[in-house]
Amino acid sequence: MITLEQCLARDRADELASLRQQFDLPEGTLYLDGNSLGALPKDAPARAQDVIRREWGADLINSWNRNDWWALPTRLGDRLAPLIGAGAGEAIVTDTTSLNLFKVVANAVDIQRRAHPERKIILAERDAFPTDLYVIQGLIGLLDRGYTLRLIDRPEDLDAAVTGQTAVVVLSHVNYRTGYLYDMRAVDELVHARGALAVWDLCHSIGAVPIDLKGADADFAIGCTYKYLNGGPGAPAMLWAHPRHRADFRQPLSGWWGHARPFDMAVDYVPDPGIRSFLCGTQPIVSMSLVACGVDIFLQTGMEKIRRKSLALTDLFIELVEQECAGQGLALETPLDHAHRGSHVSFRHPQGYAVVQALIARGVIGDYREPEVMRFGITPLYLRFVDVWEAVQHLKAVLARREWERDEFRERGLVT
Ligand SMILES: *Cc1c(COP(=O)(O)O)cnc(C)c1O
Repeated sequence: MITLEQCLARDRADELASLRQQFDLPEGTLYLDGNSLGALPKDAPARAQDVIRREWGADLINSWNRNDWWALPTRLGDRLAPLIGAGAGEAIVTDTTSLNLFKVVANAVDIQRRAHPERKIILAERDAFPTDLYVIQGLIGLLDRGYTLRLIDRPEDLDAAVTGQTAVVVLSHVNYRTGYLYDMRAVDELVHARGALAVWDLCHSIGAVPIDLKGADADFAIGCTYKYLNGGPGAPAMLWAHPRHRADFRQPLSGWWGHARPFDMAVDYVPDPGIRSFLCGTQPIVSMSLVACGVDIFLQTGMEKIRRKSLALTDLFIELVEQECAGQGLALETPLDHAHRGSHVSFRHPQGYAVVQALIARGVIGDYREPEVMRFGITPLYLRFVDVWEAVQHLKAVLARREWERDEFRERGLVT
């Protein structure tokens, strides 16, 4: 039996416990949705004020130089590089994950088109976050005939699916629904052994699990900053490209920010020789400036420590649900194997949507993803063991009292 006292004792022994004070968390809310929208770092409002009042209001156009707005995308890329196993000058913060995926898949396809024109399959997962599939479908519509998107149904099918026809493999490092975590190094080895290139979507793994893009020998990666990194709603995304591809960096959204000498105002596009070539146009400076507030909290600790606490919390969540909610129709979707578990826990329930709404009414914020999946994000920077205990007590009450049967919990909002 796991007890409340044990959970409290684990909080007292938690070496990351003090980091919670760096977040502004609403009183009375148990926030288990940091994998959709991270919480507010306490430094962010003052930073926003400074960018708006001083940099924009007082310094005006001089800020491009004086406050180094021009280099902000690469400065932030270097700042978050330690979280993804990247070196300086290899990562950038810009645009959205969807846009960045378009750029890197196009670049990867272009590299393959010149080296191996017979390879025309882009391989992805049926269970990918849909925008990834939509973006690939849109790109294929612009390519020569013959390019196709092939989908695998399960991670175990990957080995057989990567063939001499495969140009690029696009995978989510952690699956947004199930929380399944790929072994990035093993996959990259397999993909390269078959002559394909590997593109990783890090949306649910950056800030959630240790990532070593260079060590795992990945080719390209993109990911969100507004989820585990706490960059703020709609904060621009990251993009990383392995420096071995530098001579081949070529992306189709060739706007002036990616030009080698933007202020030459030349007629012809000449890409920047480095990672800046993945920029397109003018950046959202206010939103982008806040990304550092979230990243800086991670830099006070390390991903290995965060991972240890994440696994302890997800283990506790799973064990407590087993202990408190047995026989209530919940089915675990998330792998039990630590080697394949990200940092959220998902359960299926036939009335999953209504159960999540009933939890939200009790101040326990998780979310729902079709079909039937209730998702609970575990963010070790600001979640306590006692929060997991309390969340499971609420879940137990919602299920045991059948609170989800109330009509108000069945009405669907536009965003689930
Ligand atoms: C959240 C998420 C996205 C979101 O893309 P946006 O362009 O920021 O809307 C993309 N891919 C995955 C896997 C995600 O989890």
